[in-house]
Amino acid sequence: RATYHPGSGWEGGLEPYGPLQLDPSAQVLNYGQSVFEGMKAQRSAKGNIVLFRPDENAARMMAGADRLSMPPPPPELFLDAVLSTCRANAHYVPPQGKGSLYMRPLLLGTGSILGLGPAPSYSLVVYAAAVGAYFKTGQLTPIDLIVEERFHRAAPGGMGGTKAAGNYSPVLVVQLAAKQAGYADVVYLDAKTDTYLEEVSSCNIFVVKGNTIKTPPLAGTILPGVTRKSVIQLARQLGYEVEETNVTVTEAMDADEIFTTGTAVVVSAVGSLTHRVSTTSSIHDKSQRGLCDFLDRVCPLATWPVKQQSRDGGW
Ligand code: PMP
Repeated sequence: RATYHPGSGWEGGLEPYGPLQLDPSAQVLNYGQSVFEGMKAQRSAKGNIVLFRPDENAARMMAGADRLSMPPPPPELFLDAVLSTCRANAHYVPPQGKGSLYMRPLLLGTGSILGLGPAPSYSLVVYAAAVGAYFKTGQLTPIDLIVEERFHRAAPGGMGGTKAAGNYSPVLVVQLAAKQAGYADVVYLDAKTDTYLEEVSSCNIFVVKGNTIKTPPLAGTILPGVTRKSVIQLARQLGYEVEETNVTVTEAMDADEIFTTGTAVVVSAVGSLTHRVSTTSSIHDKSQRGLCDFLDRVCPLATWPVKQQSRDGGW
């Protein structure tokens, strides 16, 4: 944990995991100055512990801090905090293919302030937890998604492009309803026209049609995913045409494949997409056909164990 005071800058070090003590008038509790990151420490084939492009997470936290009027932690401080937490918890990093150690850096306005304003002091906290697959059906089962019609995740000019904690609490009501109805998660549409796909609660979305892969553009309303950026690079290297462009629900329904990307979800195949308009539902069902061809091609390069296991699992 490192703390920031305007006079003394950032200071801190490793501490045992435990509760944070906060004043009731702490800015974060009242006005929500908080951005976070999600990263995974994994074992390489040789047994070394590796983090995936942590500098991207550092840059994203800095950008989010700027948006929420918080002092951006210098990237060296961010990386040092993540690496030292990772080293201190190295024994919790599972063997390759058995999960990962999820690292959660949090930047919080911890100082007290009664009237609306930025906190007088901040904390950067990093904690870790061993995790397996994100969706309860496991990494290899294609997920069922439903297009959300009532709520939007982010508005133009808002905070959708940041990993602000406040972006996630409005998602809960929607996500719980979707889960109760049997879906893994929801796809949000753009708040202006209700026409274009934005993203899922915790991941970016891609649609594949022939040799063309489309994904919504970074227009400030979706999170610039680290995985998204890497998958775009990999897909282009593989010869796919990748377009960061508006994607309509109709196009998604007509796609050959749909998949989602994120640190937690990794790359997850979408088995079905449901869009209920009044009483009709359109189902885009690929679940009988197997995992995405795209994933089969990308995974050997990315060292994700999906290809091997998808074959073992009979896909
Ligand atoms: N969108 C949202 C809303 C997310 O929470 C995440 C997870 N950080 C992503 C997309 C994917 O980002 P990344 O690939 O950096 O994990």
